[in-house]
Amino acid sequence: MAEVFANYIGGEWVKRATVFENRNPANTEEVVGSFVKGTGQDVEDAAAAAAAALPGWSGTSGPARGNILYRAAGILEGKFERISAEMTREEGKTLPEARGEVRRSINIFRYFAGEGSRLPGMLVPSERDRVHMFALRKPVGVVGLITPWNFPSAIPAWKLAPALICGNTVVLKPASAAPLSAWRLVEALDEAGVPKGAVNFVAGPGGELGRALVNAAPLKAVSFTGSCQTGNWLHMEASKRRLRIQLEMGGKNPTIVLADADFNSAVENVVNAAFFSTGQKCTATSRAIVEDAIYERFVAAVVERTRKLKVGDGMRPGIEIGPCVDQAQMETVLGYIEIGRKESGEPKCGGRRLTDGALAKGYFVEPTVFANVKEEHIIAREEIFGPVLAVMRAQDFEDAMRIANNIPFGLSSSIQTTSLSRVFEFIYRAEAGLLTVNLPSAGVEYQLPFGGTKDSSFGPKEQGPAALEFYSDYKTVYLKY
Ligand code: NDP
Repeated sequence: MAEVFANYIGGEWVKRATVFENRNPANTEEVVGSFVKGTGQDVEDAAAAAAAALPGWSGTSGPARGNILYRAAGILEGKFERISAEMTREEGKTLPEARGEVRRSINIFRYFAGEGSRLPGMLVPSERDRVHMFALRKPVGVVGLITPWNFPSAIPAWKLAPALICGNTVVLKPASAAPLSAWRLVEALDEAGVPKGAVNFVAGPGGELGRALVNAAPLKAVSFTGSCQTGNWLHMEASKRRLRIQLEMGGKNPTIVLADADFNSAVENVVNAAFFSTGQKCTATSRAIVEDAIYERFVAAVVERTRKLKVGDGMRPGIEIGPCVDQAQMETVLGYIEIGRKESGEPKCGGRRLTDGALAKGYFVEPTVFANVKEEHIIAREEIFGPVLAVMRAQDFEDAMRIANNIPFGLSSSIQTTSLSRVFEFIYRAEAGLLTVNLPSAGVEYQLPFGGTKDSSFGPKEQGPAALEFYSDYKTVYLKY
């Protein structure tokens, strides 16, 4: 019997008879855990518990709130290997990638724990004599957090930590495909002594729970990461109630490769950004836009490197690429590969589901490279969210910039070049929230703002000091003395 993981409402672990299974995408015979299937009523109860806990938690000093996050970080550290392995088993990413993500969650908790001792407000001189004026930071209230499966620990962590440190209370709804990593964060906060009701966790079907959450009377704000479709719906619902909202959604991220780039590192960076984590990173490169002079050589080198990638169960040493997260995601990816075949011909490598031996038990797709992809092709315009790279040809730098920006998304964008002036042209003209230069387009840290522009994002940025802006408000005071 698989372990049953309960919801966490008002400081109690709430079990119910109805559960859903969390299966290993590398071996679907393995049940990683069973989760209590939350209901709309559970979400309402959780929001009510969060509202009841708000005065106590927001009245706790920032450093004391920080101490709870510090303790939770230490608890996660104590279970580091176990939590990392669970992430690989529930999401499919390789164990080294999972370890990196758990380490990041721990660092995020510590980073925002430190913010508890700062929480900067404003103090400015008045135009009037003997008037003292300042703005205090205060929490927004009860905040709903809705998270996706691809970073099942780091994304919940980068929402929970700033929300809590600012004095808000929260209801977290994790992705059904990978809820255990988020559950471990909540367990750590419980063990660290977070007051009853300050943190609530309800797993279950997104449609039902999402609707209940966005309509829960005490809710004041919602932070969401996931697909554009869900985000756009949430935006409309939240607007009806004038909820504060933050949306991080899809991308179709370009990497421009110029003829003057360090060729070998450009190949490595593109392969890394396109295929690691099975291409299931919101910042993954899905379009390589390559200058004409090196186009054929670059395609050949990327294909040669991609063919060497080791695909398999991420728990096994040496494996570089795991499975797609579930059957639906795998079928989406295979569907786009078929579209790609019709649009630009047979892929230069990959293009099939892998079913040899033990791979048949999982959702494995070969890393796939399409060449000669045109701007109007569907695989150059729609997010695939899997191990598929479209390589496109650009006449020169100007043409590459035009192609890179000619897309409704704007999450991350990358350039590979040794030209300083082109680097700066790129920095000022790239239409994306996250830029990398001579690095993979994916692989960001937590100390600076994170988020996109255009259709990829809406609302204030996450992470770094910028995260405080969404999770807090100002109270401005004028004082005559
Ligand atoms: P979804 O939008 O399907 O799901 C995200 C979350 O929303 C899940 O918890 C899901 O629950 C929940 N949800 C589903 N329907 C509703 C609803 N009607 N109301 C409220 N919540 C709902 O996205 P995926 O999980 O498939 O994630 C992949 C997407 O996320 C990709 O498009 C990717 O680009 C994007 N993403 C963006 C990032 C960024 O920072 N910009 C980072 C990571 C991913 P359930 O699981 O139960 O369906």
